[in-house]
Amino acid sequence: MKKGKMIILSGPSGSGKTTISHCLLSEVPKLKFSVSCTTRSIRNNEIHGKDYYFLSTNSFISKIKKSQFAEWEEVYPNLFYGTLKNEIFQIWKSNQHILFDIDVKGGLNLKRKYPNNSLSIFIMVNSIKTLKERLTKRYYKNSEENKKNINIRVNKAKEENKFANLFDFVLLNVDLFQAKKKAIQIVSNFIYENK
Ligand code: 5GP
Repeated sequence: MKKGKMIILSGPSGSGKTTISHCLLSEVPKLKFSVSCTTRSIRNNEIHGKDYYFLSTNSFISKIKKSQFAEWEEVYPNLFYGTLKNEIFQIWKSNQHILFDIDVKGGLNLKRKYPNNSLSIFIMVNSIKTLKERLTKRYYKNSEENKKNINIRVNKAKEENKFANLFDFVLLNVDLFQAKKKAIQIVSNFIYENK
């Protein structure tokens, strides 16, 4: 099978990864989103098979045992996320390139596994303060549960930022319009001009 290219978007929760990935999917031809598996519960606006494959922990562990994942991580305590090898092969088989929205460790693992045909991009915001403000908007209800969620993500972001220099490209997302424009430019260039 002819391998396509891989675009790996990583970065802290709240950095704008999802927004930038939606933009890339609509602007860059033949780019297809890799749907991951997760054991977290489905959110209101999400669709099984489109946003994630929502699995029970048992079913996720069974896939680990059968070596069905190209990479997987316990991204948050007791919450597992992983990319199925089959997801990658199906996208390449359909003659398309793959876009991943995955955590920093997972992103670096994929880059290590597929060094030649992948472009890894770390999305960064200018400060932890900005990140906290964005997360506060997302988890807008001032509940204990939400405060805990924000703190977990802020602490994780501080750790993740230390790995930014291991990525092929660090994309600073301060002005979203500029960040989207830059993302389209580097991704298109990687897929279509460096063949
Ligand atoms: P969320 O639960 O907010 O959708 O995602 C939580 C985190 O898990 C995000 O940083 C997201 O990029 C990451 N993630 C999503 N899918 C995967 C995956 O397949 N593997 C890994 N390692 N991380 C993932």
